[in-house]
Amino acid sequence: MTIDIRNIRKSFGDFVALDNVNLTIASGELLALLGPSGCGKTTLLRIIAGLERPDAGQVLFSGQDATHTHVSERQVGFVFQHYALFRHMTVFDNVAFGLSVKSRKERPGKEEIRERVMKLLKLVQLDWLADAYPSQLSGGQRQRIALARSLAVEPKVLLLDEPFGALDAKVRKDLRRWLRDLHDEIHITSVFVTHDQEEALEVSDRVVVMDHGHIEQVGRPDDIYESPATPFVTQFLGDVNLFHGRVDGGSLTIGDYAHSLGQQHAGKTDDAVAYVRPHDLDVSRVADGALAAGTVEHIHAVGPVVRIELAQIGSGETIEAALSKERYRELGLMLGDTVYVTPKKVAVFLKEEA
Ligand code: ATP
Repeated sequence: MTIDIRNIRKSFGDFVALDNVNLTIASGELLALLGPSGCGKTTLLRIIAGLERPDAGQVLFSGQDATHTHVSERQVGFVFQHYALFRHMTVFDNVAFGLSVKSRKERPGKEEIRERVMKLLKLVQLDWLADAYPSQLSGGQRQRIALARSLAVEPKVLLLDEPFGALDAKVRKDLRRWLRDLHDEIHITSVFVTHDQEEALEVSDRVVVMDHGHIEQVGRPDDIYESPATPFVTQFLGDVNLFHGRVDGGSLTIGDYAHSLGQQHAGKTDDAVAYVRPHDLDVSRVADGALAAGTVEHIHAVGPVVRIELAQIGSGETIEAALSKERYRELGLMLGDTVYVTPKKVAVFLKEEA
């Protein structure tokens, strides 16, 4: 089932929660809505679900206008952050619930319900817990059961609102992979809300980055991370260093440092900001052609990556670099050393865009 979101607007009083949002979700795709708290992701999900009415615009399911279709008619399944399992029912009965409350005409027979529920429990790898009660399950298991329950009625679309938000970091990580694998198996069109960039990048086929009620960028995780379209996306997707300079004659210059921009910003002359991720900064003891000089203030050597904090000479601003252990050893860095940084990769936005 494809979903088309066309010119959707939604306000709560004077507050504009969604400002003319357009988006096409492909059939069978797992799409993440990513953005900071309050950017409108849940509102958009609720509009797709039919739990919220837009003020303007349309929602099309497989090309058919569903803007005014009641939630019960939309064939959508939900999973929310706080598992809404019935505590007095076993896992089996929880998953069977959606089927057993169907009208007599639509309700499958007892044996078929049993088969479908057990198949779903196997799919979420928890068939051995069929007779357990929710209180006997871990948080992660409850969310997997909540997902099995939402799939029981064979929805055409699956909507997940921060489904792992209440779980601890380790369980979250496991469940992300699990959801990815599950989706690869069932290929149901799915929309997933999260404010966690790592989660969005790891789980989804495409990511929609939102801010203040509008879409900043839509793309595959790699593209979004490697080629962020706006300063907001660059900063939201991970740690980044900012350097202020100038774009002129097809080059970025920051002090003595010059970097050719190719066709980007061709023919423009303006103040500009260069965004460089910590792992895209090379640290060296050689000043030639460097972007900035700094004094080593902190060294965090935990795991395979060594994070270095420098105080930039001149401005005193903090520069963060992430080096491999090998490079760090090669440089023999000590606190107080003066070093030079050069970007391997840089995203440049003109001042007016930044
Ligand atoms: P979060 O991750 O915090 O849930 P979000 O991106 O999902 O954020 P929304 O829940 O879509 O954001 O809310 C967007 C804005 O609209 C918020 O500022 C919120 O306070 C406001 N809002 C949402 N629902 C209502 C409502 N029913 N009445 C008034 N304001 C609302």
